[in-house]
Amino acid sequence: MSFDNKSSNRLATSNSGVLGWHAAAWQSIVGEKSRWPHAVLLKGERGIGKLAFAQELAKGLLCERSETLKSCGDCTGCNLIAAALHPDFRDVVPAAASPEIDEIALDRARDKAKKPSALILIEQIRELTDYVNIRSQRDVGKVIALYPAESLNVNAANALLKMLEEPPPRTYFLLITHGAQKLLPTLLSRCRQIALPAPDRQQALGWLAAHGIRQPELSLAQAGGAPLQAAGFDGDYWVQRASLLAHLTAPRFDPLATAEALRRHEMVCTVDWLQKWVFDLIFLKVVGKIRYYPDCGEVLSKLVNGLDSREMIRFSKELSDQREVAGHSLNAQLFTEQLMLSYSHLLRSGRYG
Ligand SMILES: [Zn+2]
Repeated sequence: MSFDNKSSNRLATSNSGVLGWHAAAWQSIVGEKSRWPHAVLLKGERGIGKLAFAQELAKGLLCERSETLKSCGDCTGCNLIAAALHPDFRDVVPAAASPEIDEIALDRARDKAKKPSALILIEQIRELTDYVNIRSQRDVGKVIALYPAESLNVNAANALLKMLEEPPPRTYFLLITHGAQKLLPTLLSRCRQIALPAPDRQQALGWLAAHGIRQPELSLAQAGGAPLQAAGFDGDYWVQRASLLAHLTAPRFDPLATAEALRRHEMVCTVDWLQKWVFDLIFLKVVGKIRYYPDCGEVLSKLVNGLDSREMIRFSKELSDQREVAGHSLNAQLFTEQLMLSYSHLLRSGRYG
């Protein structure tokens, strides 16, 4: 990974401002600039605005005027950050990561042959050594943001641990994760952990509406309540989703025709949609509610009555296993056919099929 100014200041120019549902968390730390720890882990669900929070932290730590973590927005440090040119800021992400960092984006990256790595590699941590050890150029401090932290491979995590043992003064690491349980316990123990909450439904819907997202309720449901993820669904996403649903809800399900129609879709997306579909079937059967597909209530209700519960759980488990390999499977058509045949088996367990 190159550390040219443009690529190393991505975080600094991402969404601006702490999101409303993180205001309390922000207020609880804003006065701590003078005693800010050298390693912090920001953790919380995917798509809730952790990067925006980290961005404000980085700005505050590098601001040359403010005594608190609330940056002044006007000093040289603040202007350099705003221009994505601050020499004392680095971010470290997987080479394959898109601006929208989420699990699906990472898995999509794994889809591509000869793809760039979806992990943060030890070389990237080693490249930080000089940066960490030389004096900061603005003489205020240095900030290194790593995200998603769960994409650190074991070697990279161990190299980072060494760096965290004795960091030079005013060197601040910000680790950001939606998979804290996947991090090495030794790494966790070296970080101050800050848990960032997800918004409630009204906050999330208000934010989506303010950002001009069409179908905010459906988008939010499909994203499992994560507004920033919901805002990232583009036109292609909805076209592919509609195509899958047309097949899943057809009066007579045809697995091979469905697989053929979906073969150009990203496998990870297909698995994700199916996981949500079968989750809703199980949720509907057990709790009587729908989480991800509120626009398909009628067809889900009709479908679920005829399905065998054990088969639903079997298919759900199979999807979890397939998700692990979806990014590595080279034969998309075969992969999708197997999934659809398995879904067909589920349907035959009941009176549909
Ligand atoms: Zn400033």
